[in-house]
Amino acid sequence: MPEKVFASIITIGDELLIGQVIDTNSAWIATELNKIGILLRHRISVGDRADDIRAALATEGKRASIVIITGGLGPTADDITKPVLCDYFGGKMVMHEPTLRHIEYIFEKVLKRPMIERNIKQAEVPDICEVLLNERGTAPGMLFQQEGVWYFSLPGVPNEMKWLMTEKVLPKLQEQFSSGVVAHRTMLTAGVGESFLAEMITDIENNLPPHIKLAYLPNYGMVRLRLSGWGTDRTTLEQEILHHFELLKERVAKHLIIDEDIPLEKAVGQLLLQKNATVTTAESCTGGYIAHLLTSHAGSSAYYKGSIICYDNQIKTKLLGVTESSLQEHGAVSASTVEQMASAARQLMEADYAIAVSGIMGPGGATAEKPIGLVWIAVATPKGVTSQEMRFRFDRKRNIELTAAHTLRLLYAAIVDNK
Ligand code: ATP
Ligand code: MG
Repeated sequence: MPEKVFASIITIGDELLIGQVIDTNSAWIATELNKIGILLRHRISVGDRADDIRAALATEGKRASIVIITGGLGPTADDITKPVLCDYFGGKMVMHEPTLRHIEYIFEKVLKRPMIERNIKQAEVPDICEVLLNERGTAPGMLFQQEGVWYFSLPGVPNEMKWLMTEKVLPKLQEQFSSGVVAHRTMLTAGVGESFLAEMITDIENNLPPHIKLAYLPNYGMVRLRLSGWGTDRTTLEQEILHHFELLKERVAKHLIIDEDIPLEKAVGQLLLQKNATVTTAESCTGGYIAHLLTSHAGSSAYYKGSIICYDNQIKTKLLGVTESSLQEHGAVSASTVEQMASAARQLMEADYAIAVSGIMGPGGATAEKPIGLVWIAVATPKGVTSQEMRFRFDRKRNIELTAAHTLRLLYAAIVDNK
């Protein structure tokens, strides 16, 4: 096997360290590097401080042959990455004419306002770097090379970073470092915890070759199983992974939702498409969140009819005909209410399936019999309506997300059962 190529990512910005911005750049870059067979050694975040940036460059330059840096290239005083890099690699700042013309173009034609000195300064780059022109913004990307290590500096703004990675960085890396390949395969399981799952598949896991690893990724009461492998030839590696993946699939068949790395709502959508069926939602406690998930995927109009967000009890009655007596006797969070909601929504929207949810998301609203986290979920199908009680025990946001996940899971199972 050829030598593995390692990369490190340094994300820069005080906002990352105070938790104001989540470092999504690293995750995205890591995924893209993996696709071309480059493995990650470290991901670190540092603030906008010269000494910390220098220290990070020194450490990562020793461990990796590729260092990708994002952030701190803006025109304001808090963005210091460029002068620090210039000094670190021993260059001096010079005007980069193509970048200057690009910035002038953006101000004149796109922003339609005059440039100020600060903006002109963005076209200055260290004379020892290769400039990567940024068509999506004003801060150019830069490539520095020192002792065989390639350092790429990119803007922090995610869409600019992604454009530069895709158009400039990845093609360069592929040409220079392409030796190994990395491949992943993921399946989604539900209804069984990760420890029990681990027991079920111990022998398969133990028989994996050293270059293929199994990861358990639990969330929302479901567990994703991912096989990741490293090799020299993509086809061979993918076949090898597939072999072990099939063994796993067979073993966990009872709990398998989908053998792809896609979100649950997309799996539901694909299944509905396959069955040529439609769904509608009647949401109380999730306030349209399930509708949002379902419509986040292109093409959802083929199977998604729409939603009734009946948060207020009067609306449950007015629009969905939930009976006063049911609300009085059993309350809004009850089997009887959600079953009426689902059946009515199914008829009103002329859908094959309908789901309805009502629950107490917290932090207020609990009673002696109905604690925070109590949720009733109903699924109406061409065969009838069923409901289920769930008890979550988290904060409002997570309770809403869990409700959505469980509802989608029940819907998925109902569609499968209906053939
Ligand atoms: P610009 O030239 O556009 O100012 P920049 O390199 O100066 O780019 P920053 O000022 O560091 O970029 O970051 C701009 C914004 O990009 C931040 O406010 C933040 O919203 C987002 N951002 C920065 N770094 C990251 C990161 N690692 N992950 C996700 N978002 C980020
Ligand atoms: Mg910044």
